[in-house]
Amino acid sequence: MIEDVRMAAAKIETAAFELFEESLGEEYRRVLKEKLGASENVERAVAGFETERTLDEGIYEWTLHLFLLDRAREFGVLGGPETIQAVELRGLGAVGQGRARFRDAHPPCRHCGIPLFERLAPRCQLCGGDLKQKVA
Ligand SMILES: [Zn+2]
Repeated sequence: MIEDVRMAAAKIETAAFELFEESLGEEYRRVLKEKLGASENVERAVAGFETERTLDEGIYEWTLHLFLLDRAREFGVLGGPETIQAVELRGLGAVGQGRARFRDAHPPCRHCGIPLFERLAPRCQLCGGDLKQKVA
């Protein structure tokens, strides 16, 4: 059976979640490389921020299309509702849920504002800010 990936809301949500994590991981690797420069610790330091895709590639392609659509909508460059297909509207809902799940799993660091890669880490892996201390 050929599955229509455009209809698979749960998979689109997961793909969106993984794509957000993937780009967060890239951001961490980029910043850490900048910070550490060309030391031999760099490769070890950035290795922990590799993420994996768990679904078929077609789902990510469709989800990336939805990301573009979402951004176009955000900037108001899309026309009225007639320019968007029902299947895309449903997909955008799933992307929104993936984004909410991502925000839940990666709350922003209260020191630098960048989403934490590990929600329960004792300190921010980017700015080094202490996350155990309670805010008064
Ligand atoms: Zn931070």
